[in-house]
Amino acid sequence: MRVRRVVCPGSFDPVTNGHLDIIRRAAKLHDEVLVVVGANPAKHGMFTVDERVTMLEEVTADLPNVSVGTFRGLLVEYCRARGVSAIVKGLRAVSDFEYEMEMAQMNYRLAEVETLFMTANPLYSFLRSSLVREIAEYGGNVSSLVPPPVEAWMQAKLAERGQG
Ligand code: ADP
Repeated sequence: MRVRRVVCPGSFDPVTNGHLDIIRRAAKLHDEVLVVVGANPAKHGMFTVDERVTMLEEVTADLPNVSVGTFRGLLVEYCRARGVSAIVKGLRAVSDFEYEMEMAQMNYRLAEVETLFMTANPLYSFLRSSLVREIAEYGGNVSSLVPPPVEAWMQAKLAERGQG
């Protein structure tokens, strides 16, 4: 039987409840979900790629068919090398649509890799990592926006920087 293996790509800086909702739903529909953090050395975020991977592993530990990794370069090459049949993405609002549509069409054109869109849970449709980082940096409460271990990681990171 063919394994239905999909990827959930992103920067996950850090993983939010919105990401986790998509990952959980994708895990119900497919045999294997690979959550992959794009490693872009030019982009410095709040967390290193290794820290993002550790947080993702922690918050998906209860999902046996989910694994976490990283990718560099073209996502479709990663997909080709690992027998991934589709990319799963969350769509929050119409504003996501134009960019995602372009990426999906290009990825199909490059490697015939399909993209499957899942509509965001309305509870999280306003949620993006950059906003969560900003709220935390200004001392706001992010406990309803990220899983508890991520909140603790964020507090530790801000304390380390002297912003806690
Ligand atoms: P962000 O936009 O939060 O920085 P990423 O680049 O890490 O997120 O996003 C990875 C994927 O997760 C994208 O497909 C994005 O649409 C999806 N995603 C991000 N936030 C949410 C959310 N709140 N609800 C549903 N999908 C989301």
